[in-house]
Amino acid sequence: MNIKTLLNKTTKFFKEKNIPNPRLDAEVLLADLLDMERIKLYVNFDYPLTKDELTEYRERVVRRAKREAVSYITGHKEFMSLDFEVEKGVLIPRPETELLVESILDYFEEEEIEAPNIVEVGPGSGAIMISLGHYLPKAKILGIDISQKAVKLTRKNIKKHELEDRLKVNKGDLLQPLLKRDTQNVDLVVSNPPYISDEDMENLQPEVKKEPKLALAGGKDGLEVYKKLIPQAGSVLKKGGLLALEIGYDQGDRLKKFINESGEYKDVEIKEDYNGKDRMIFASKKEK
Ligand code: GLN
Repeated sequence: MNIKTLLNKTTKFFKEKNIPNPRLDAEVLLADLLDMERIKLYVNFDYPLTKDELTEYRERVVRRAKREAVSYITGHKEFMSLDFEVEKGVLIPRPETELLVESILDYFEEEEIEAPNIVEVGPGSGAIMISLGHYLPKAKILGIDISQKAVKLTRKNIKKHELEDRLKVNKGDLLQPLLKRDTQNVDLVVSNPPYISDEDMENLQPEVKKEPKLALAGGKDGLEVYKKLIPQAGSVLKKGGLLALEIGYDQGDRLKKFINESGEYKDVEIKEDYNGKDRMIFASKKEK
């Protein structure tokens, strides 16, 4: 069997199983298995697959048909043009979250802050903090995650990107490990916390249902983690420092109100994604 026939057969099978992007998934799974770029599959259409390759590919196809995420099968996900290892038990980085990183990079450029002191709450695989560390070569970044699995994976990805001298990650509950200190020296607190409401948790795609609840579920209204995190961030940010959070599509107004009422922030700004949905909220620590 050659690449062309195999891809056609697999696409047809995925279609029958109602897999959302049948052709793309068939290609990504095969390109990763053969360790070639996806575009190269087309150049090598006549390549005859070995028996072992076919067996391994079939195993992957069966897993995908059972709605396991492609990234969990390949063990990789690209984010901000960088490659990250991912594994079951840790949230897969989402393309939408790249907008959060891009907006933060724009902010530091506008403010001419070259060597920021950054804290990320809940890095998961480390995609946000590592891409910030990569694109801001003088930044110092601490990640704090409550999941030991996430801490280990972030550490692995920090090493993979050779950022161990400036990036660290520890286990902890939100910003708790920093609250004992009396110093307010953080330029940025960033987080993509769990924010899905109990009701929306019921209606997740089958792939997303296999991701850790700890990284997704934000309680009844989806805002539980923000309500703890926002006041904590106020105690570690320096005057004028930035709080940058990813948020759910319908949470902007409620969070803006909550942040304003906390009395610790100014310039609260909801930012939308390319679909016009609430995606992030930024706020600056007051100078008082
Ligand atoms: N954007 C993710 C999703 O919709 C949710 C991530 C989160 O809760 N932080 O699957």
